[in-house]
Amino acid sequence: MGNKHTIFTDEQLNAYQDCTYFTCNEILRLHGRYHELAPQLVPMDYTNDPDVKVPLALIVNMPELKENPFKNRIVECFSEDGQGNLSFNDFVDMFSVLSEMAPRELKAVYAFKIYDFNTDNFICKEDLKKTLKKLTKEELTPEEINMVCEKTIEEADLDGDRKLSFTDFENMISRAPDFLSTFHLRF
Ligand code: CA
Repeated sequence: MGNKHTIFTDEQLNAYQDCTYFTCNEILRLHGRYHELAPQLVPMDYTNDPDVKVPLALIVNMPELKENPFKNRIVECFSEDGQGNLSFNDFVDMFSVLSEMAPRELKAVYAFKIYDFNTDNFICKEDLKKTLKKLTKEELTPEEINMVCEKTIEEADLDGDRKLSFTDFENMISRAPDFLSTFHLRF
């Protein structure tokens, strides 16, 4: 309680509650986490919407992300400037989408973005290879990776263009109910 009104106005807190899956207290806790990443950079007063961004290198070091093989892609996908720098809004969005409260459909949209390494709105064989290498921590041989990618595309590519559109991807993960469970972050 105490100092909460010195960080955000009531209007700001209400807006955050409307646009995320978080309560006021969780937003304040997230601000605390954001502040401790870069105390000299992030002010304690957000009532005038300061134009502050914390660089990717500091965010991927958070304990919640550190061990995640997709940490760089995750942060990049939520970075509005596309450089991996996160404003507080970007930061809150990231935790909101990755929270357990976020619906499956929303997680699927971001999972697709994260796996679409070359950002052409399709998951192609090269994207799948990169994904698989990260998921298996290089335990598979290049031949095995190639085989799994071929097979995945063969099974999931419904319109025969040898790459996965978002619809193909949604279909694929609907047959793997646990798939999106890796898209949870708890802070
Ligand atoms: Ca792609």
